[in-house]
Amino acid sequence: MFIKAKWIHALFHLHAKLSSLWGGELFLLRLRPTLQCQLHCPFCYTQNEKLEGSLLNKSEWEQLIEKLPRKTVVDITGGEPLVAPEIKNLILSLLKHEKKVSLMTNGLNLDDELIKILVTQQLYSLLVSLDGPAHIHNDLRGDKTFEKVIERLDHLEKIKKISKSSWPKLTLKINLLPNNFTILADFISDLEKRYPEVQINLNLLFDNGARGGRRLASSWAEERFKSGNTQRFAFSPQELESVLKLDSHLKKKGKSHFWRPYFEGSKEHLQIKKYLEHPASFVPRSCFLPFNSLTLYGNGDISPCDLSLKIGNVREYNYDLRKVFKDAHYQSLLKDFYQTNIQEKACQGCCLAPHRLKLRS
Ligand code: SF4
Ligand code: SF4
Repeated sequence: MFIKAKWIHALFHLHAKLSSLWGGELFLLRLRPTLQCQLHCPFCYTQNEKLEGSLLNKSEWEQLIEKLPRKTVVDITGGEPLVAPEIKNLILSLLKHEKKVSLMTNGLNLDDELIKILVTQQLYSLLVSLDGPAHIHNDLRGDKTFEKVIERLDHLEKIKKISKSSWPKLTLKINLLPNNFTILADFISDLEKRYPEVQINLNLLFDNGARGGRRLASSWAEERFKSGNTQRFAFSPQELESVLKLDSHLKKKGKSHFWRPYFEGSKEHLQIKKYLEHPASFVPRSCFLPFNSLTLYGNGDISPCDLSLKIGNVREYNYDLRKVFKDAHYQSLLKDFYQTNIQEKACQGCCLAPHRLKLRS
């Protein structure tokens, strides 16, 4: 599965490069309809952010969806997207327009009506965060949140079974944390018994101010594009060995897990160890997604792929995101991005590009 993820990435990049030559036919759109959330996870980097100005209304979303390129892939995230106004209509409309949609959520607002929409209209992928068994998850996210999420996921799987549908594919995203890594092997095993088709995404935290989901900058000159990944871990040598054992244990069992960010080269376990020791020593491979990928915020602001730079607002483009790629202003921003190598720091930790160990200068 990990190899498959790498190939999908490589193919998407090749396609992105080629399709940019004929006008952005394949388009990856990240939606952040809100930055708000009903929870306050200690590692969350969006919870103190707020969208400024008026949010897009139902008719504005409709105009925008009508004008999306045919093969748009949509990744909905937040904050917590399911607390955004109009979110059900938005998801339903995207699915009715046959877009390939994935939704990332904390799982608490997956109500019966929404689950029915996701199954019958065939959401492609549902990613739900779990930090460990009840005592760990509830400690981080609040009383009974684990039980509520599991109850919602059980209901989802029941509706899929009744509807004889395999959609949406369920991925559980688990952040690797100092208090959960020793029990993750058993926890993942329990999840796989409960949800046999589940995919496990093991997330290595990163902290990069250049990343989307924050107040948007007005220029590449801002300090945040030079700071890189400032995440620090405090694993002892023995704890690092336990993390490596977890990886090899899961691999031996043929578990369907993958790590984010992911690393180039065959010795993945050694790279994970190095990342946990020195997160900033990894840099992403050249990435061309900004040619075909934008993030749209609930207030209409637009940024390149998922970087925290404001390009403009979709209202200025008459709700047609295709116009952004042809805009001289955007093309000049991209030229600066690549010519001044902003990506070396700004992209550190991004889960969309493979990372490699930086050569010493
Ligand atoms: S559930 Fe997600 S968006 Fe909400 S506080 Fe936690 S990490 Fe942030
Ligand atoms: S943030 Fe960087 S690595 Fe991530 S998609 Fe954008 S250009 Fe690619």
